[in-house]
Amino acid sequence: MPIHINAKPVDINQRRIINGKDADVMQLYPMRHTFAWDAYGVGNANHWLPTEIGMQKDIEQWRSPTALSADERQAFETVLGFFTTADSIAANNVVLALYKHVTSPEVRMYLLRQGYEEAIHTHAYQYIVESLGMDEAKIFNMYREVEAIYKKDDLVLSLNEGIFDPLYKTGTFENDQKFLENWAVFALVMEGIFFYSSFAVMFGFQRQNKMVGAAEQIQYIMRDESQHLNFGINVVNAIKEEQPELWTQEFQDHLVDVIRRAVVLEYTFAKEVFPKGIFGMNAAGFKQYIEYIADRRLERVGLPIQYNVENPFPWMSEAIDISKEKNFFETRVTEYKVGGQLEW
Ligand code: FE
Repeated sequence: MPIHINAKPVDINQRRIINGKDADVMQLYPMRHTFAWDAYGVGNANHWLPTEIGMQKDIEQWRSPTALSADERQAFETVLGFFTTADSIAANNVVLALYKHVTSPEVRMYLLRQGYEEAIHTHAYQYIVESLGMDEAKIFNMYREVEAIYKKDDLVLSLNEGIFDPLYKTGTFENDQKFLENWAVFALVMEGIFFYSSFAVMFGFQRQNKMVGAAEQIQYIMRDESQHLNFGINVVNAIKEEQPELWTQEFQDHLVDVIRRAVVLEYTFAKEVFPKGIFGMNAAGFKQYIEYIADRRLERVGLPIQYNVENPFPWMSEAIDISKEKNFFETRVTEYKVGGQLEW
């Protein structure tokens, strides 16, 4: 965009997530959305790369005819089938849809970090698939072949496609609501619900001391993803504050409806992954687990909870509960920082 000579400093009170009036997206300061800058710092401190994690034990187990049951192998493959394309969908949404319309430079800063993290996640799945000598074409194409994966991706992509339109612009009630819908669906559904039964499956393996290299990578991915989710929730709440007229009752009902549909798709997917149930997790447990996390997402953006159920996988809260996560990963994060300093 062209710049004009203007001696007036940027007015922080004009800063908006979208539709900022004094929208100089080149000037990081003065900063208004400090949560984004904080998230950027956390992302950097949590930096990791898939290739730092050894896959030798996983390779032995994957090749062994007895280490994993047929059901476990199918579960592992289907979960990877979801993961391999999910982060590419996320990256596209960040880079091609959201970034362009955001008028807060600090929010844009975090989106750049988030986009890179989505690439690292896709790299992790590639590294797992390659290390284990899996059929790449089969795994990476699963989202087109396995109905339960296709339906999840289709829900997110069909709701979000409006803002990919080259003619789409923020600035009208309808379009701004569309933008808010994109971010809410992307964060709450894609990053906040659709990853979570797959996370649970991978931690099920880990608890059995199986596929531990892959599971460790998924832990790092989960840590990143819960930051993306946190950030997305902060953005949704910030837009609500900046443009309260968008948050109509009808719109809220619509979001609740989308989340309820997503919950059904997610436990249907879980049923497909574990037709007979393994690791003490069965279809009923998954259904309740997905309902439990959906309620947590709803309450974070001020929407009414729908299910009111207990967490049936209490062991998951240790690994996945956002508030506990810092402690959970503390050791590894510190090690990485020290390693990084020595290296440079
Ligand atoms: Fe993400």
